[in-house]
Amino acid sequence: MYKSIALRKACCAIRKMEPLSRALADKDAWITGLRREQSGARAEVPLIDHSDLTKVKLNPLANWTWGDVWFYISENKVDYNPLHDQFYPSIGCAPCTRAISLGEDFRAGRWWWEDETAKECGLHVKASPLSTTES
Ligand code: SF4
Repeated sequence: MYKSIALRKACCAIRKMEPLSRALADKDAWITGLRREQSGARAEVPLIDHSDLTKVKLNPLANWTWGDVWFYISENKVDYNPLHDQFYPSIGCAPCTRAISLGEDFRAGRWWWEDETAKECGLHVKASPLSTTES
């Protein structure tokens, strides 16, 4: 996966996309924690995504900020991954996730050897104009 984007994406396709595809095969909708603030690639994430005509994708946290998330966690005593306390703001598979340094982008620890524009595993395809973006 470190040798080329193609190999890394093949790994993501086998380990993430294919299992998710099977899990969602008979479902009408699914829900994610995507937030627009997470990356440039997610800046247009809609609250309700109809771009896949076979199932609706709901992104209820699309408008939430990092602060909103941590305020909610604190107020509601939600369990969270302890790696977040060790400078891992974005957590994926172990071989493809590292801690970040002060000043680095929150997603800098994901696929850090790749160009910023390639940093998606493929689970979240770009929304079409059919998507609902009002808040
Ligand atoms: S994030 Fe890394 S280890 Fe995980 S599926 Fe993708 S390439 Fe493989």
